[in-house]
Amino acid sequence: MSGEYFNKDIETMERGELDSLVEDKLRYTIDYAVKHSPFYRKWFERNGVSPSSIQSHEDLLELPLVSGELIRKNQPPKTDDFQFMSADWTDIYTIHETSGTSGVPKSFFLTWHDWLRYAKKYGRSFCSQGFGPGDRMVMCASYGMNIGANTMTLAARDVGMAVIPEGKCTFPTRIFETYRPTGIVASVFKLLRLARRLKNEGIDPKETSINKLIVGGESFADQSRSYLEEVWGCPVYNTYGSTEGTMCGECVEQNGLHVPEDLVHLDVYDPYRKEFLEDGECGRIVLTTLLSPGEKCGSLLINYDTEDTTVVHSRDKCACGRTHMRIYAPEREAESLWVSGSPFNRVDVEQGVFQRENMDHLTGEYEAFLDKNSVGKAVLKVNLECLDENNCDRDSIQENFLKGFLNPYTGTLNLYEEGGLDVDINFAGMGELEIFKLKGRPKRVVDRRKT
Ligand SMILES: [Zn+2]
Repeated sequence: MSGEYFNKDIETMERGELDSLVEDKLRYTIDYAVKHSPFYRKWFERNGVSPSSIQSHEDLLELPLVSGELIRKNQPPKTDDFQFMSADWTDIYTIHETSGTSGVPKSFFLTWHDWLRYAKKYGRSFCSQGFGPGDRMVMCASYGMNIGANTMTLAARDVGMAVIPEGKCTFPTRIFETYRPTGIVASVFKLLRLARRLKNEGIDPKETSINKLIVGGESFADQSRSYLEEVWGCPVYNTYGSTEGTMCGECVEQNGLHVPEDLVHLDVYDPYRKEFLEDGECGRIVLTTLLSPGEKCGSLLINYDTEDTTVVHSRDKCACGRTHMRIYAPEREAESLWVSGSPFNRVDVEQGVFQRENMDHLTGEYEAFLDKNSVGKAVLKVNLECLDENNCDRDSIQENFLKGFLNPYTGTLNLYEEGGLDVDINFAGMGELEIFKLKGRPKRVVDRRKT
């Protein structure tokens, strides 16, 4: 099923028309920033730049890149007021905090218009995945400071589907029988654990009423997706979202994530060359919220640096009929580690773990530590959870892992072959990984070289 459109006119707009709509909205957005955001008002004054000179995507390079650090420097206790807050208190509907890696939370304000705009983005994404009236979706994303679950729930109203707001993926399995849900929103690992729980109760996940899964919140390898699709017997769609307002989702074609271009402008940026990159080049995702006349925005961010990386896949019309650009699944830059000039990401490690032949022996749960051995050589130690620890074929699992993990383009393959990187595979019994003992969302791939 190709799925209905949420807003056909916008989603299938011709490229030229879409680009000029984006530029109109950009000019309105800059005007809004100057009138409502203390940070931008002062910036334009101080730098002697005329707001009317910002007309197109390239002109955005004149404005500063907004990092998490810059936001923290412009909010209490560093300043008296929230310099990025861009609406009156009477228009602020919710306040969110995102902690990031430094531990000091960034404040983020949302108006009701922001909520509606976020819901619209998710609504389009759900429709493009074939969701519609009559669907029932179990929401396993958490309802809290994280805006995703809440605005996805709001989006469901306009899509015409029902939401079962569990918030966690540990809900009782009777939910499947009682309400016959058709979709679940969760992470790869939560969905794998849920499948194992069902199997332990004698239920085959493929035999449940679920016919689509949405995975969001973190990047994953193609192999993890294929395995999840095999276990559940249905398609798995990737979504990418953040409190700051990126909401991109794969359509039924599973060929890149559509960016709702009229609602959020996405650039790919090279922080070293300080320029926007061409389609096909890998760089940081930089976002600019786009407002329509009359819309209010609680924390307007122009050139927000997500610290996630991607590549623009295509701006051509997709086979689903949508014209909005598609990007490759973003990866967290903080999850990339470098060994002698060659990078690898958590996703690369996952690609090694989830090789199909491995999955007859493994649960998919893993942890990896990059360390140095006694002579200073880099060693990636990978601990894998086994279904039966005593019946795991170490050599073939190691061989499969290396096939998925090592990459000729980033240089890790060469590094391994020349002896600059070792890989040490270890097997753990069920429930024995170190990460299971840690609270919160522990990192799966940890750099221990410095300590
Ligand atoms: Zn599409």
